[in-house]
Amino acid sequence: MTNDETYTLRVRRAAIMFPGREIVEDAAVVVHDGLVVQAGAWSDLKASCPADVRDLGETTLLPGLVNAHGHLELSHLGLPPARMGGYLDWVRWLVAQPLGGTNPEAVARAAMQLLECGTAAVADIATRLPRLVAQGLDEAGIDYAIFFERFGYQGDAPLPDIDSERLALAGHALYSTSPESLRAAKAWDTARGKPFSIHLAEHEGETELLAAGTGAFADFMRERILPKDFIAPGLSPVAWADALGLLDSRTLAVHAVHVSKSDIEILKGRGATVCLCPRSNEIIGVGRAPARALLDAGVPCCLGTDSLASAPDLNLFEELSALLAFCPLSPHEALSLLGPVPARALGFHRLGRLAPGSPARFAVLPTDLEAALFD
Ligand SMILES: [Zn+2]
Repeated sequence: MTNDETYTLRVRRAAIMFPGREIVEDAAVVVHDGLVVQAGAWSDLKASCPADVRDLGETTLLPGLVNAHGHLELSHLGLPPARMGGYLDWVRWLVAQPLGGTNPEAVARAAMQLLECGTAAVADIATRLPRLVAQGLDEAGIDYAIFFERFGYQGDAPLPDIDSERLALAGHALYSTSPESLRAAKAWDTARGKPFSIHLAEHEGETELLAAGTGAFADFMRERILPKDFIAPGLSPVAWADALGLLDSRTLAVHAVHVSKSDIEILKGRGATVCLCPRSNEIIGVGRAPARALLDAGVPCCLGTDSLASAPDLNLFEELSALLAFCPLSPHEALSLLGPVPARALGFHRLGRLAPGSPARFAVLPTDLEAALFD
């Protein structure tokens, strides 16, 4: 589907995701010069649509997917040799890997995985090699935001030399990044209207460390990174993030596995978006996010694959399948996780729906998910 063309896609079903009219049966999508110009029911558009009609048959057409959390600079790694017994196991394994060894070929292969499932945009966390990842995504023609990640207690590294439109700041986590760096990163993003991302409430060790400074994970962190005078705030991860002023409608809280009812109320009250990564959580062995409770409370949720060091591939549809295994979803909820919610939270304003002006970037719902959601 190249530019300068005008054509009509006809399809059994299209998720146009227009508020109040999300899913259209027997649909048509009119494309001109690489942009959607109209989308709706075939019966309404057939009289006026371009004559070049491409029938996609019995499929469900979606706007290009938005993967809300990746680490493409870890694309040279693979999964750990066995399912891990928790975050501490996994991070011990991870830090023994050649973390700085990414190469352009590994990033290009990862970008190909994103394209193969219809990914239009990715929010990528970069600690070491933001330029390499940005180049790989540019070459693949994938829209992206690079979240340059603040990490540690030793002051902030200089900003990377990448397109400032693409750059935002993230915090790694509440235990691994100083409160000053986290606040400064959030303030930097806020001043520029950018989203902020942080791994939040991912694992029990995090909860224990912040509640009381105790546990095997806290001991591990004390040996490596925590300052000698670290004092546990005595709060849950969500409550501590809130006390630091990190949570608002431009915040992406990644994981949210270990959240209580009152934590969910805080997330809802602040308007933060949760990025669920169910396969990463399963492989690392940290538990399952209370996704149904988050959605029922009205917390906007989206999906991310996380890195190839904790997910077998970068296919967001597989992430949705993993979520459906423990969290029933309506078709509208499921399709919102893949596009509209992350597009809004991350500022990809032209993505996430099939509306006039949207890029002609599409994904096709796999048949197993189609059966799970619509049959
Ligand atoms: Zn991550």
